Amino acid sequence: MAACRAEWNIYMMNKVLQTIVGGVLCCLSATLWAAELPQTEAVPGGIAIVPLPLHGDRRPVVRYWGKRVMVVRQEGQWQAVVGIPLSARSGHYNLHIDGGKHDRIVTFVVRPKQYPVQRLTLSNKLLVNPDAEELKRIFREQRLSKRVFTTFRPVDDVATRFTLPVVGPVSSAFGLRRFFNGEPRNPHSGIDLAVPAGTPVHAPAAGRVAATGDFFFDGNVVFIDHGQGLVTMYCHLSKIEVKPGQQVRQGQVIGEVGMTGRATGPNLHWGVSLNNDRVDPMLFLSRESIASITH
Ligand SMILES: [Zn+2]
Repeated sequence: MAACRAEWNIYMMNKVLQTIVGGVLCCLSATLWAAELPQTEAVPGGIAIVPLPLHGDRRPVVRYWGKRVMVVRQEGQWQAVVGIPLSARSGHYNLHIDGGKHDRIVTFVVRPKQYPVQRLTLSNKLLVNPDAEELKRIFREQRLSKRVFTTFRPVDDVATRFTLPVVGPVSSAFGLRRFFNGEPRNPHSGIDLAVPAGTPVHAPAAGRVAATGDFFFDGNVVFIDHGQGLVTMYCHLSKIEVKPGQQVRQGQVIGEVGMTGRATGPNLHWGVSLNNDRVDPMLFLSRESIASITH
């Protein structure tokens, strides 16, 4: 994506700023961790943390492809926290900062990432090709999911450092390019944690239950809205313990692991969405939580 001259100047300013901020952050990595920003991995399915060339106390409104993105302040510096879609091509991308008559543009770079292929053989009852009635239901459920994922609740304190909802081995990693019975399907938009049915599922951070449901593919599902476009999703539950609109605190039990919907066995599919793009949940975990995942 070629940048015009004005954009290029801002891009260069941004690079200088990133270099300065990056240098400072290298020295302050403990502070960075304490500030609870997710890990940066500016790749498809990852997150870009982009310093904004702005001062002042008013939280700026920033958009990416027209979608509002999370903005946090760290060490006095406003930063955009941007979810990058799995379908993104590598290259330069623009963030638009609302500035009244004229938007300001800051550019960031997405690098390529190739995720592994996963081939699964599913029995017919695991719903490879739904019929017309089932498709209607699936579209209804997709509309509800989209409404939840596109909600932007402008809260000041958004918790972006998560604990694990269940502790267990990852049976299917994020981003896998999947083929069911030889047919290509969407890439894996979350991680699967394989734990026995009935294992309690804990909220990874405080938030508000945005929706619950019994979905064709996802089975019993819970969505938690953590604010500023950050939404987490829990699928295949045997039991749901929360209601839409309910506030939950970090660690609160929201349901139990099951194998409802399209699941090859008991597991928790955990999805994380940022500005309506599904991103790798591992980027939000502390080192301690990652170390506690058994393999
Ligand atoms: Zn999954």
